[in-house]
Amino acid sequence: MGPQDQDDYINAVISIETSLSALALLDALQAIENAAGRVRKDNRWGARILDCDILLYGNQSIDNARLTVPHYGMKLREFVLLPLAEIATNLYLPDGTSVNALANEINSNGMVKL
Ligand code: ATP
Ligand code: CA
Ligand code: CA
Repeated sequence: MGPQDQDDYINAVISIETSLSALALLDALQAIENAAGRVRKDNRWGARILDCDILLYGNQSIDNARLTVPHYGMKLREFVLLPLAEIATNLYLPDGTSVNALANEINSNGMVKL
C-alpha cells in the first residue's frame, strides 16, 4: 500500500472474541499502537511501527465518523484477504460476499508466507 520506497512489512489477521463494543475495541487497538511507539504523521500508508485495523465485527456493518466496518479496503488487499481466508474458512462478509471467492481471485502480488 502507498509509497513503494518503504521496507518490507509483516501482515497478520487474527480472530478474537471480545466483550468490547466496536468503538471501545478501536480505542483499545489505538492504545496498543501508541504503546508500541506509533507516532501519527500526515503520510497515511507510510511506514509505521504498528497498524491495527478492525476488518470485521461479527456480521455488523458500521458507518461511523471514526469507524467503518467492514474495513473499506479489505476486498482489494491481498495482504488482508489471503491471511483472512486461512483462518476463516467459509466466512462471508455482511454483504454476502465469500471471503474464499475474493481470496481465490486476488493476485498475491509477490507476498511471501512466513
Ligand atoms: P487504511 O485505513 O487505508 O488501512 P491506515 O490504517 O493507515 O489506512 P490510520 O491512519 O491507521 O489509517 O487510521 C485512520 C483512521 O481510520 C483511524 O483513526 C480510525 O478512526 C479510522 N478507521 C475507520 N475505520 C477503521 C477500521 N475498520 N479499523 C481501524 N481504523 C478505522
Ligand atoms: Ca491499515
Ligand atoms: Ca489503521
